[in-house]
Amino acid sequence: MASVPTNFYDLTRDALVTLTTSWGFSPVHALRLWAYVYLSGQESWANMPDLPARFRAKAENEITFGRLNVATEQLSNDGFTHKYLLSLTDQRRIETVLMRYTGRVTACISSQVGCAMGCVFCATGQMGFIRHLTPGEIVAQAMHVDAILRGTPKGAALAEPKSSSPHSRHERLRNIVLMGMGEPLHNYDSVMTAIDILRDPTGLALGAKKITLSTVGVVPGIIRLADEARPVHLAVSLHGATQEERAALVPVAKKWPLAELMDACRYYIQKRERRIFYEWTLIEGKNDSAENAHAVGRLLHGQLAQVNLIPLNPTAGYDGGPTGREAAHRFQKILSEHGLPSTVRQRRGIDIAAGCGQLATAR
Ligand code: SF4
Repeated sequence: MASVPTNFYDLTRDALVTLTTSWGFSPVHALRLWAYVYLSGQESWANMPDLPARFRAKAENEITFGRLNVATEQLSNDGFTHKYLLSLTDQRRIETVLMRYTGRVTACISSQVGCAMGCVFCATGQMGFIRHLTPGEIVAQAMHVDAILRGTPKGAALAEPKSSSPHSRHERLRNIVLMGMGEPLHNYDSVMTAIDILRDPTGLALGAKKITLSTVGVVPGIIRLADEARPVHLAVSLHGATQEERAALVPVAKKWPLAELMDACRYYIQKRERRIFYEWTLIEGKNDSAENAHAVGRLLHGQLAQVNLIPLNPTAGYDGGPTGREAAHRFQKILSEHGLPSTVRQRRGIDIAAGCGQLATAR
């Protein structure tokens, strides 16, 4: 029976070397292949002339490039947010978003098809869990964005890249946020392998602190992340500052209660000596009162923390609206009285349903 080809994007550099060495080739060829793909964006064997013919013939049979095809794409009216609905090999679909603001190119990528966490206001949560993504399917989203950027002349809205690396001829992917479809810590091993690949200094070379992983509060995952030395930012979705209020929006809070989550967050901060970003979706009349803001201040008192306030992206399956600008800034002012730094995130790309899962569910 013929063996199933390996998806190149599932492999760390070491795993690629191990694989091709097992075929009897020098590691040099594996490293050349790695550079062709990650430094030149090449996926065609015919365009890799430095690889020996025998190596190419073997690799062509054994390795595939798990491409993601674009099912739909949308560009926001302001031209800064580009959203892609990408098809996987089993025809499942995931969302990847490219955000291009002055001096920053960020990709928001997915970690699962659907999500088991069921946050009531989230289109992906309303879809339910379908399956985990493989490391290669996570990395391929970054490569999709990288390919778009390679074909894009440096935009006036973007800062000049500082490096003189091969990436410097085009806009470069600088930041990745794992805030698309899915709960990254529910797919821990695949997500961490993907992060290792994305950070490889001889590949996409995403710097430490350029990757942000967002969790809704999977406590065992936070503790494991605290115990491992991966330099990623951690964002924790809070949305409610009491157990009752949080559980009404984030059902998984019944499994990992707020007190347990806070213990895990304090452990993470102490172990990693790193701040946590707390995400707070502002829902009008639900969790945006002065009392809610004081409760957040009391809950996070003394923590190395920053709160990101995000007015709700409305979804068809949830009857709630976003907090207005003024009320959001009032909330922010109260947080600052508690000594908590915060930002109010702009609702970019709202015209293209920028909340995760909205394009996939619309299809
Ligand atoms: S907000 Fe995140 S964790 Fe919650 S249901 Fe949506 S994708 Fe899952």
